[in-house]
Amino acid sequence: MRFSCNGCGKCCHDHHVPLTLAEARDWASDGGALIILLEAVLADGSGLPAGQREHVLRRSLAVRCGQTRAHLAITFAAFNQGACRHLGSDMRCAIYQRRPLVCRIYPMEINPHIPLRAENKDCPAQVWETGPELIVGGQLVDAQLAELIERSRQADREEIAAKAAICQRLGISTSALKGDGFTSYLPQREAFLDALNEVQAQSPEQSEADWALHVSNAALARQLEETGAMIAAILADNCSFIALRADAA
Ligand code: SF4
Ligand code: SF4
Repeated sequence: MRFSCNGCGKCCHDHHVPLTLAEARDWASDGGALIILLEAVLADGSGLPAGQREHVLRRSLAVRCGQTRAHLAITFAAFNQGACRHLGSDMRCAIYQRRPLVCRIYPMEINPHIPLRAENKDCPAQVWETGPELIVGGQLVDAQLAELIERSRQADREEIAAKAAICQRLGISTSALKGDGFTSYLPQREAFLDALNEVQAQSPEQSEADWALHVSNAALARQLEETGAMIAAILADNCSFIALRADAA
């Protein structure tokens, strides 16, 4: 597989760009809006995609959820509806030298279990036919790109406890079940920055708060309650549920 970006700018539209903590601080400080996305799997394996146990658990935090444990994954992302606020009319990035890690990695996948497929990407067909070789024999050949992907995975692992602590300070204690959807929150910028500063001023702490799951339908709620999980009947005012299943109620 070859690849050569043609600068069309499509990937800078309508994508919530996942951010590291430092990037989220910069984004909010610059006046950008953030979205927080939460998903969890349960200790009994509910929500866990087949074959992804190691990857999912490595980037998640074990928290209390009723009588059981949930493994919570949290994404802080730039809230991009339409064009990214940093995209110029010439389709150039105004913060190119300090653009987020994920912008540098696209169109590569960060999840090692998701193979790169051109048809799942925004890039036009011709960019996959020219340029240097990207993947040979299933292996990424660009060492610099491989290092960026590893850095992104490492940030996911190292920052999950701080993200959970920030969510607690923002009053967020509800997650979706992985595969069923995402719980999404749009935090106030100032409140987010205050919470981030408070958490970073303290030594890392293990989250001991109770978390509840919000799911798409009553049958799934009953099934999870039988495992001891706490189910949230309603979501807080400042959040919504992004369903991933066609049969979501
Ligand atoms: S920060 Fe730059 S590269 Fe990233 S989405 Fe925005 S315009 Fe595109
Ligand atoms: S969509 Fe693909 S080709 Fe277009 S700017 Fe983004 S990475 Fe480059």
